[in-house]
Amino acid sequence: MKQFACGTVVDGCDGVVTGETEDDVLAAAAAHAAEAHGMAEVPDEVVAAIRAGITDA
Ligand SMILES: [Zn+2]
Repeated sequence: MKQFACGTVVDGCDGVVTGETEDDVLAAAAAHAAEAHGMAEVPDEVVAAIRAGITDA
């Protein structure tokens, strides 16, 4: 399992998303960003920051 803590990118957010693979985590993070942060599209630099912040769960 992989996981990503949203607070790595969004100050103060305690959301954590998980997935089987990095791509699953990215998809879950995009869904979280849309729901929690009103981010309809995730910019490339944010995708890069998410990838960099993914850890093994
Ligand atoms: Zn968040």
